[in-house]
Amino acid sequence: MAQSLGFDGRLVLPGDADWEDARVGRVFNGRRPDRQPDAVLIAGSVEDVQRGVRLANEKGWTVAVRSGGHSWAAWSVREGGLLIDLGALREMSYDEETRVVTANPAVKGGDELSPFLEQRGRFFNGGHCPSVGLGGFLLQGGQGWNQRGWGWAAESVVAVDVVTADGELVRADETQNSDLYWAARGSGPAFPGVVVRFHLATRPLFGFLGHTVHGYELEDFAEVMAWLYEAHHRISTDVEIVAVSTPIPLPDGTEKRAFLITGLAMVDDEETARAALAPFNECPAIDRAIFVQDCAASTLAEQRGQQTLQNPEHWQYITDNAWIDCDNTPDGIARTVEHLRPLFTTNPTDKGFAIWMSNAPMRDLPDMAFSLQTEAYVASYTVYEDAAEFPRNREWLTEAMAYAQPVTAGQYLGDSDMTHRQLRFMAPENWARLREIIAARDPQGRFHRYLAKDHDSLNVNHWLAEVADVAAA
Ligand SMILES: Cc1cc2nc3c(=O)[nH]c(=O)nc-3n(C[C@H](O)[C@H](O)[C@H](O)COP(=O)(O)OP(=O)(O)OC[C@H]3O[C@@H](n4cnc5c(N)ncnc54)[C@H](O)[C@@H]3O)c2cc1C
Repeated sequence: MAQSLGFDGRLVLPGDADWEDARVGRVFNGRRPDRQPDAVLIAGSVEDVQRGVRLANEKGWTVAVRSGGHSWAAWSVREGGLLIDLGALREMSYDEETRVVTANPAVKGGDELSPFLEQRGRFFNGGHCPSVGLGGFLLQGGQGWNQRGWGWAAESVVAVDVVTADGELVRADETQNSDLYWAARGSGPAFPGVVVRFHLATRPLFGFLGHTVHGYELEDFAEVMAWLYEAHHRISTDVEIVAVSTPIPLPDGTEKRAFLITGLAMVDDEETARAALAPFNECPAIDRAIFVQDCAASTLAEQRGQQTLQNPEHWQYITDNAWIDCDNTPDGIARTVEHLRPLFTTNPTDKGFAIWMSNAPMRDLPDMAFSLQTEAYVASYTVYEDAAEFPRNREWLTEAMAYAQPVTAGQYLGDSDMTHRQLRFMAPENWARLREIIAARDPQGRFHRYLAKDHDSLNVNHWLAEVADVAAA
């Protein structure tokens, strides 16, 4: 039976009627792991999180955390120990003077925080899918709306409230517990504590959202992608630039896969948006486009709706990603585009998709754990309902990512699964500092760290680790 044991929430144990729901019910990906924690604490308050960590200390349990449940690889579900589920804590408050919003980590960036701020004329660049939780998203860097122009969402974290390994509640910011503040912006699932509140700088809500979308046949992928590689540096940084391989609806009710290039201008007015999006009309293949939508007026609600359609909840997903290196010469672009081609043109699942996201022009990052990026990010997703498809889809993604390896610099934690493929995700010096912080803050290893197949070669592109293994043999 679920127990209260002095908790404001509940402690759910294996054998309880709602055990399965507590263990994996809030995991977005329908591809659920078998891993079994010893207990799940549905925290009813911040004090519960402190009580949970102290209970884990007494019992010698490890602690895993769940905020929004959107980790593709279900990082919150670990073998043994206590899972602290923060899903019931969803408070938000806004300070008119500082323009800082405070929110619990399970608050959904799009569904909850964005409308709350819109009513106040403010905006925070949370994750694209509206139901992504702030917790995991911000801890790993946070590729939010127009990250290209406005920076990683973690750059807007001004402070975090953290329950530490001994169950204390502390504030971490530039001036106090600054090691935790540094780690909270990029360490992802290795953060040595439980964040219970984020304090986030907001920006003014833009006045106009203009959306350009060109749909192209897959045969035109190489030409259009090469053009985008050449053009993305000169498009205004108020425009989020994404290329997507995705199914599109046809008039007869069927769907077919197409290659879309999109620009979302988040600006003051329509005139500015039209000017910012005008370069898309220079695409040399535009006359062959299946459709062209030029700077259509859009809303955040519409954008959120499109993201929800693209990512159906509880379907089965296998995902992988890469930071892509390209030398921006015509030959370099052609080579890069060829290495990306299978990811964008051969996805074996009807609903599967791939995204290429511009991160150019590159900006220096503030001093924080998140520290690896290149001018373009690619992620690929197989999306299916029948678990029997897993082997085929896994094999396809493995091969397509391997084909992209010659232009791969590393990975973003957000779309990664290190039980399958390990890549660099952080600058080496940041990785060294993060390990020191973890060792000092959590010497007993109370909190779970990266869920990886090989902990000795973390933050190394696996092909380099393999070469080292062969050399050592
Ligand atoms: C449909 C979909 C769309 C996505 N879109 C984007 C996107 O646009 N941009 C982007 O950057 N990412 C995106 N992601 C990836 C997503 O940001 C990551 O999976 C992120 O980890 C999800 O955060 P969460 O809190 O919902 O996940 P959870 O699964 O709850 O958390 C993941 C892990 O983070 C750690 N963690 C979470 N909260 C805390 C906490 N409070 N304290 C300490 N550790 C914690 C834990 O290790 C936890 O297991 C998307 C994922 C999905 C499923």
